[in-house]
Amino acid sequence: MLMDGNERFASGNATHPHQSEERMSELLSGQHPFAIVVGCSDSRIPPEVIFDQGMGDIFVIRTAGQVMDNVTLASIEYAAEHLNVPLVVVLGHDSCGAVTAVVKGGEVPGHLNSLVDYIQPAVDEAKAAGNEDQLLNNSIDYNVKNIVEQLSTSEPILSEAVEKGKLTIVGARYHLDSGEVEILE
Ligand SMILES: [Zn+2]
Repeated sequence: MLMDGNERFASGNATHPHQSEERMSELLSGQHPFAIVVGCSDSRIPPEVIFDQGMGDIFVIRTAGQVMDNVTLASIEYAAEHLNVPLVVVLGHDSCGAVTAVVKGGEVPGHLNSLVDYIQPAVDEAKAAGNEDQLLNNSIDYNVKNIVEQLSTSEPILSEAVEKGKLTIVGARYHLDSGEVEILE
């Protein structure tokens, strides 16, 4: 459903579903989103827009670089455990400012340090893998991969749900030029 919606969006055929007063009434009795999207706060990538979804469809958590701390993890646990959402999509994207800042390195002000701490391992992995001119691109993908791993092994709720086959966690990347989402293997 997400990929169908993204295809509609990227091809200019978005239908903007589930945004009517009727939908609002339906949702008075509760929410049953079908996916959790863990995305970047970047204003160019609003999940409901790029996946052509509406109200009640997706449970969204966004932070810069889509990094996950205990509070954001708890939000995912809530959706997986209490709302029985069966899918988490960790969505990275081209030209991510948060990852770019860590690739550039150097001192950062204020609380940005904690953001660096979360993303640094991905940049280190990308550096170790070589291919210097693809350092940013590879760092973006490693960051997604690391977050998928972090969520999959998060005890006890998420790791158990994955083990029981109740929850699938996948990585993906949004392409700014085409508007297309690519699932990362
Ligand atoms: Zn970003």
